Amino acid sequence: MKKNKTYVQLTDRYSAHNYHPLPVVLTQGKGAWVWDVEGNKYLDMLSAYSALNQGHCHPHIVKALNTQAKRLTLTSRAFHNDQMAFFLKKLCALSGYEKALPMNSGAEAVETAIKVARKWGYTKKKVEKDRAEIIVCENNFHGRTTTIVGFSTEAQYRNGFGCFAPGFVTIPYNDPAALEKAINQNTVGFLLEPIQGEGGVVVPDKGYLKEGYKICRKHNVLLIDDEIQTGLGRTGALFACDHEKVRPDIIIVGKALSGGCYPVSAVLCDDHIMNVLKPGDHGSTFGGNPLASAVGIAALEVIKKERLAQRANKLGAWFMKELSTIDSPLIKEVRGRGLLIGVVLKEKARPYCERLMERGILAKETHELVVRFAPPLIISKQELSWALPRIKDVLTG
Ligand SMILES: *Cc1c(COP(=O)(O)O)cnc(C)c1O
Repeated sequence: MKKNKTYVQLTDRYSAHNYHPLPVVLTQGKGAWVWDVEGNKYLDMLSAYSALNQGHCHPHIVKALNTQAKRLTLTSRAFHNDQMAFFLKKLCALSGYEKALPMNSGAEAVETAIKVARKWGYTKKKVEKDRAEIIVCENNFHGRTTTIVGFSTEAQYRNGFGCFAPGFVTIPYNDPAALEKAINQNTVGFLLEPIQGEGGVVVPDKGYLKEGYKICRKHNVLLIDDEIQTGLGRTGALFACDHEKVRPDIIIVGKALSGGCYPVSAVLCDDHIMNVLKPGDHGSTFGGNPLASAVGIAALEVIKKERLAQRANKLGAWFMKELSTIDSPLIKEVRGRGLLIGVVLKEKARPYCERLMERGILAKETHELVVRFAPPLIISKQELSWALPRIKDVLTG
């Protein structure tokens, strides 16, 4: 059997070095567990940044993928296919929006939302040509396209990749007063994450979203809620904004929309916003393809049928409480919501993630000091209980 190291060397030789993965080479997954090429078993506590809320190789989703793969995989949007409408209908029924626009990656869906918001601004709000502004937050993460990294505040995401698109205004996160101050007659949207996942699992104050929503309403600005990581059950509700009973004008979803089987993302909003798009305004060769649609339907069915949001709510509250009882001078804070939990350390988190790996737990540092625990939502209490003493060992040892 070839060792992990062999694959890592081969990867280093042929792959761009744009990532720094843990030195483990996975070959199989089932539920919350994965196996490496040496036969070692690990509990996956990252779940591909929440793309695997339904767990690895969920049989219902894999079956839909296989069945559709044998029938029809791609038509492009030049023709209709017999899957997309049912996928979008399901997504709209579940989310309570009137329209959905399917894309592939999360970043593409964010780009789509930016285009929709701008065109809405020009056609409905009557913003002067090419003057539309979108307000974003410090410490944001919305993807890696040139437009999106252009409004990142993370130096490494930007450095070396300019020039950047104008039209974005940055304000501090969790600061409604700053939002109101930044709005002017050209402001078309306020783009934010309800919890900043990549930013280190930063949870804003209670009421922040609600306050932001009110300010947006008052000034006729679209609230654009990026739920790519927090959505579809992760934080203990279908969307993180549901905790505050806020209904954003636009919701962006991705990641778990496919249960990790295939890239599927979407933008959700009502007719009066989506109808600014006309034939030819926007598109994607693969967006809404029949394979993606069939997978998306199955992924949503699993979220609903297995009550993943309720599971995340219950297990997450318990698990976070248990993590908070770990008595270690290394830990600064435990924070999160549902099964999106960050343990903030007083020193670099990477070595601790490596040690967790040696104990059979896969987690990844985010923002240097934070270990993120975001296992698949199908995980059982027993599996989480198995992890606890091991996490405790590593974080106190
Ligand atoms: C992952 C993520 C994205 C980008 O999604 P990709 O599929 O990697 O392009 C955007 N926003 C948030 C909040 C994310 O977590």
